[in-house]
Amino acid sequence: MSVDERDRGSTLEEGEVVLLLDRQGRRTLARLWPGRRLHTHRGSIALNEVLGRREGSAVRTSAGERMIVLRPRLIDYVVEMPRQTGLVYPKDAAFVLAWADVFPGARVVEAGLGSGALTLMLLRALGPRGALTCYEVRAEFVPHALANLERFFGQRPSLVVRERDIYDGIVETDLDRVILDLPEPWRVVAHAASALRAGGIFCAYNPSMAQVQHTVAALRAHRRFAAIETLEVLYRSWVVRDEVVRPEQQMVGHTGFLTVARRLDAEEPGGEDDGGDADDAE
Ligand code: SAH
Repeated sequence: MSVDERDRGSTLEEGEVVLLLDRQGRRTLARLWPGRRLHTHRGSIALNEVLGRREGSAVRTSAGERMIVLRPRLIDYVVEMPRQTGLVYPKDAAFVLAWADVFPGARVVEAGLGSGALTLMLLRALGPRGALTCYEVRAEFVPHALANLERFFGQRPSLVVRERDIYDGIVETDLDRVILDLPEPWRVVAHAASALRAGGIFCAYNPSMAQVQHTVAALRAHRRFAAIETLEVLYRSWVVRDEVVRPEQQMVGHTGFLTVARRLDAEEPGGEDDGGDADDAE
């Protein structure tokens, strides 16, 4: 269940997902069912002990280990939830929200749904007034992804899922944002140009630079987009403990690239200048 207004200061209840942290900061997610025991590498915990507690409480395992109980942040939940596809990881999803400027109440189309990781982040940012439609071509993925969303929000969130191939077109119009995590985003550029309002934002996440090149070429050729930008996010966490102050030794080397672009009001005139930046000239 999500940490939201409803949960502020309330005690942990049956059916909620909680995060247990041991002394080393190791994490375990558990759903609170009365009468069940959670087995960890540091002994087991009767979940009845956790029910009715407030977030931040300490409980003891059968081996005497102290564990702290919290509601998970959305990013804690996303990396632990069952998955059937690759995910957009929190570092990249955070940048999607900022670079695609996803705001409360926006009208957004996303593709594909996958395991629902990016969808969760979008729903959170859009809030109850937002309108999210998610295209997914593999119908068999949909129930699993919806279960991931429902487990987090504690209820079926409000979104429309279209079991369709987005390469065939976007039904919605007057969109604020089109957000893509699929293999060939360049095939969505023309559809996004029709579906986005002027000033709207196209955003694609892709693991390979070849995909980025095709997408940027399509955005330029379409003459309906400006402010085309590609970036990657390097995230390095640090150990800060007494005299040990250093980066973590392990780091994720690569996830993917983001490409964002703004929809113009009218088509750019053609001509010599293909929209490339002046400082590209060498
Ligand atoms: N962003 C998701 C992961 C998406 S994986 C997450 O964070 O969990 C890519 C998904 O896009 C897959 O589920 C795949 O079936 C879907 N997909 C691929 N091509 C598509 C298309 N043309 N139209 C709709 N969905 C598509």
